[in-house]
Amino acid sequence: MIPISAVDVRDAEPLVTQVLRSGVLAQGPMVRRLEEEFARIAGVPHAIAVSSGTTALVAALQVLDLEPGDEVVTSPFTFVATLNAILHAGATVRFADVSSDDFCLDPDTVEVTGRTRVLLPVHLYGQPADMGRLAPLAARHDLTIVEDAAQAIGAAFDTAPAGSYGLGCFSLYATKNVTTAEGGVVTTADDELADRLRLLRNQGMRRRYAYEVPGHNYRMTDLHAAVGIPQLARLDDITQARTRNAERLTKSLAGLPGLVVPTALPGRTHVWHQYSVLVTEEAALTRDELAERLAELGVATGVFYPRLAFDYDCFRNHPRVIVGETPVAARLTGQVLSLPVHPGLSEADLDTIVDAVGQALTGHRA
Ligand SMILES: *Cc1c(COP(=O)(O)O)cnc(C)c1O
Repeated sequence: MIPISAVDVRDAEPLVTQVLRSGVLAQGPMVRRLEEEFARIAGVPHAIAVSSGTTALVAALQVLDLEPGDEVVTSPFTFVATLNAILHAGATVRFADVSSDDFCLDPDTVEVTGRTRVLLPVHLYGQPADMGRLAPLAARHDLTIVEDAAQAIGAAFDTAPAGSYGLGCFSLYATKNVTTAEGGVVTTADDELADRLRLLRNQGMRRRYAYEVPGHNYRMTDLHAAVGIPQLARLDDITQARTRNAERLTKSLAGLPGLVVPTALPGRTHVWHQYSVLVTEEAALTRDELAERLAELGVATGVFYPRLAFDYDCFRNHPRVIVGETPVAARLTGQVLSLPVHPGLSEADLDTIVDAVGQALTGHRA
């Protein structure tokens, strides 16, 4: 079976061994190295490594000192961590809709109220949201931008890297383009927010037992950082391999009946965390039938995401979850299907994927 994601940490051993031998296992010099690399990638002076993408989002929101009732506007077409982080930080979430061009926040659907403080776009599948319109919208209403860039390491809108617009939140979870097993990073150009994020991450301590704010333990370990550093050094290769695979899939799959292939929009650097097609009503099979058929033909797929983030009993009637009309996002949950696009795919794997999709949709090979 061709997997939907594959971990490649074959170059991690020397640094991991170095950490084990050094005896400094928790946050130390490797974390600092990873942070320096990350700041360079996001094009900002500061990167603060934390324990996960979720804690990156929580910390980024906590450092803004939101008041009860303050609102964060985001997309419902995302992993639940986006929503959980907003609720964990004590804020109220207001959902806007997404655009079917990029699967990200549609600026025309963003409702700003007197309580809105944060605009939180999700750069879904590795393509940045429409920052060319979202950034001016945020500026007009004095909103802080917190980017959920969990899937978008190395992506850019025009020349501005993902993570450079305000507070950028990245995930280094095992399935992401770069992984430390578990891990996350917050990036920012703001010196004061960076300083406070470092305090917040480490129990509010500047020096041992010198507490300045109520904090938490959001630290990354040096063992985890050592796993990620070699991948950051070859990030361009990782992204290029994903891009080549995406181009290959699109070249062969475009035009199949009932299938809409994903596109990188002009001016945006897409890092192809996922290659997600839409299976429309014109297709010979439903989305779920296609997924089943592909599994029979040896191709694993993923549905990211089968339901909107708020569409679960635990969030229904939640006093801090404000659900608007999000018809585009709702339609997409029924149509998206992600095909393998990771750098571990061989030419033969790509042929298998293309042939399987063609066979499933037309009865003959693509
Ligand atoms: C992975 C992911 C997260 C959470 O990251 P973790 O490292 O798993 O905590 C948040 N948002 C999105 C869009 C993600 O894909």
